[in-house]
Amino acid sequence: MIRVNPHYSKLQASYLFSAIAKRMAEFQASHPDSDLIKLGIGDVTHALPAACTEAMHKAVDEMGCDATFRGYGPEQGYDFLREAIALNDFAARGIAVQADEVFVSDGAKCDTANIQELFAQDARIAVPDPVYPVYVDTNVMAGRTGEVQDERYDGLVYLDSTEDNHYVPTPPAQPVDLIYLCFPNNPTGATATHAQLKTWVDYAHEHQALILFDAAYEAFVRDDSLPRSIYEIEGADEVAIEFRSFSKTAGFTGTRCAYTVVPKACRAYDAEGNPQELHALWNRRHTTKFNGVSYPVQRAAEAVFSAAGQAQITTVNDGYLGNAALIREKISALGYALVGGENSPYIWIKTGIDSWDFFDRLLNDAAVVTTPGAGFGSCGQGYIRISAFNDRSKVEEAMQRIAAVLGNR
Ligand code: PLP
Repeated sequence: MIRVNPHYSKLQASYLFSAIAKRMAEFQASHPDSDLIKLGIGDVTHALPAACTEAMHKAVDEMGCDATFRGYGPEQGYDFLREAIALNDFAARGIAVQADEVFVSDGAKCDTANIQELFAQDARIAVPDPVYPVYVDTNVMAGRTGEVQDERYDGLVYLDSTEDNHYVPTPPAQPVDLIYLCFPNNPTGATATHAQLKTWVDYAHEHQALILFDAAYEAFVRDDSLPRSIYEIEGADEVAIEFRSFSKTAGFTGTRCAYTVVPKACRAYDAEGNPQELHALWNRRHTTKFNGVSYPVQRAAEAVFSAAGQAQITTVNDGYLGNAALIREKISALGYALVGGENSPYIWIKTGIDSWDFFDRLLNDAAVVTTPGAGFGSCGQGYIRISAFNDRSKVEEAMQRIAAVLGNR
């Protein structure tokens, strides 16, 4: 008898976005003429940079001609893209990442989901709360947790990110082996300083632990004193894997391209305590289970690093950050405490009431969709996330409507 993976039954239904979609549908059915403004889901709204579409067109033409056609590519990514990444995202910032330590993929979601395969079943895992749900659910699927009790899975160590620690957790009292961190953070928009990341790198060295650092939003860091990469911290190459994506950086959410850095110095240990190169393990996994990103998409990603590409993504991302600044200003003026939105496209607002009640109020009275913080973990209760990914005019309109509703609370 073929049996299903029993751990899937522990997963909580993907309640958050389906619940939001249901409430939106109900609102639209009862207000068919209303112009709903969506500042909920974190998807970009602006087109790909012209430098990228031009490169993609050219690559498509190459694929249509026998002389330049390419079949299966290297699973790890073409050298032209791996080298461009190592040069522009790291060497140019004084960080020593080699091109062959970069693994190109179709998403930071897939990579942050799949990386746990490399680690022992009994690895002790720490996840932030609130959290990007992929880190948790993939470990649940892999059988590394018990059931949910009081909104938390048995067997996981939760790193509370609250007002008290300025939404940047410190290492836990109990030892853990695998630590998921994300800065600039989704959902809070909080950023971590060098000193804060150093605490984690020191912890990882001391406990022979590994940090999985999700830097999907690094392109929004404008404060030069903040780290964009965990490898800015000395010794991090031995204890951290970093995930990056072109999704938010350059509007690739529908085009799909990302990458993961696994330094050759990075180690995990076998049962006898002997160090093992994670680079070799991830290479084995990637080449066995992944076919590589398509050639035209990799050419488009390479074009992100051209002078034109850089100028174009800066314009678009500055626009999103301008929206974020406006949201910060308007919501703060209404007397709400918030974090994020300065070096991040997300703003995390303390509602003072239940997340879903606040969400409903903005939906029903202002026709603005946000994301209830409770959907990201128990520490998100009493918060909402607003995303700055939208057109300026829509954000302005949304802020006017919210001020009209919340101004007289
Ligand atoms: N990591 C975080 C923290 C995210 O918020 C997202 C997308 O929203 C991703 C990863 C996924 O990135 P990608 O589109 O490259 O799969």
